[in-house]
Amino acid sequence: MAHSVTLIPGDGIGPELTEATRRVLESTGVAFDWDVQEAGADVMDEHGGNPLPEHVLDSIIRNGVALKGPITTPVGTGFRSVNVTLRKTLDLYGQVRPCKSYRGVRSRYEDVDLIVVREATEDLYAGIEYEQGSDEARELIEWIGAHGGTVRPDSGISIKPISVTGTRRIVEFAFDYARRNGRRKVTAVHKANIMKFSDGLWLHVAREVAEQNTDIEFEDRIVDNLCMQLVQRPEEYDVLVLPNLYGDIVSDLCAGLVGGLGIAPGANFGTKAAVFEPTHGSAPKYAGQNKANPMAMMLSGVLMLRHLDEMEAADRLEAAIAEVIAEGKSVTYDMKPTRDDPTAVGTSEVADAIIEKLGAPVA
Ligand code: NAD
Repeated sequence: MAHSVTLIPGDGIGPELTEATRRVLESTGVAFDWDVQEAGADVMDEHGGNPLPEHVLDSIIRNGVALKGPITTPVGTGFRSVNVTLRKTLDLYGQVRPCKSYRGVRSRYEDVDLIVVREATEDLYAGIEYEQGSDEARELIEWIGAHGGTVRPDSGISIKPISVTGTRRIVEFAFDYARRNGRRKVTAVHKANIMKFSDGLWLHVAREVAEQNTDIEFEDRIVDNLCMQLVQRPEEYDVLVLPNLYGDIVSDLCAGLVGGLGIAPGANFGTKAAVFEPTHGSAPKYAGQNKANPMAMMLSGVLMLRHLDEMEAADRLEAAIAEVIAEGKSVTYDMKPTRDDPTAVGTSEVADAIIEKLGAPVA
């Protein structure tokens, strides 16, 4: 039976990457029933200036799975980022970013194979902020003063909520993800020595969840120490689970360990749906030039195949991508030794090469 999947081409380089990814996914032999939905800056005028129309969200909820190209965040339109709206509306609380070394990618490290699991609804990203000089900031500073704290009167304030509920579900998610994907260890990351009531709670709850999941090894690390150790010995880590802000920073650090944005896939899991998309943005300067690297989006497609329980097809597609990277011939400019290398190929030629490796006819 065909898998019903919402396909959002996005804008900028999104549509060409999405087309290349759709072609390689179909070449695995898995059947898809694509529900193509337009979103982003190019269609916002047709929808009252809204870059994420309601019917797109309805489609994702109906299908439960979406593959999404990057979408430009229009500046100064009063609309929130499409990605933030998606995350909030679909309650996409678990962001997963695998960071894996592929032979042939220029990087300082070999054999990195990490999964970063980031909580995506709480922490300093909750959007609860009080502007310096506002009545609310003044009131809050007075309240804090009356309850034993001191905040300078000319401060702006961002609140960092971390709940038992939010922590429990993301740490449970990390253990489930580890189990489903044959991983051996979960590391909970925090700064509990300084922030006792937010990160301290996180650590306490993580330890409780670990006690229910003794088939998988568990440890914790303070975030600054973790950053140093990731740079020195990344092979010691397996699945990392982090609150929102540390997760954002550490996932970029890990993407850097394995060669950067061109091959960094992503997945967002929630209570209503799962959305698969590359880590990078819409790179508007390369839009429509058949130039951008489609591999991060294709690897996001590999994650989607695994989510759909198409394990064998996922392994074959990942192996085909890895082979093309290792050969270094049919790759885009960013994977060549120099950025002006004349042997670089375009987005669609990368897809052709991968389809050939899959043994499927190039359409
Ligand atoms: P970006 O990721 O688009 O670009 C950063 C750099 O990486 C640029 O030099 C770009 O050319 C290069 N790059 C990115 N993807 C590439 C690829 N596949 N192949 C080759 N080179 C690639 O980040 P940005 O410039 O900060 O953002 C551009 C727009 O994308 C913004 O509007 C931003 O809000 C949006 N954005 C969207 C998402 C998303 O939809 N999930 C994520 C991040 C940024």
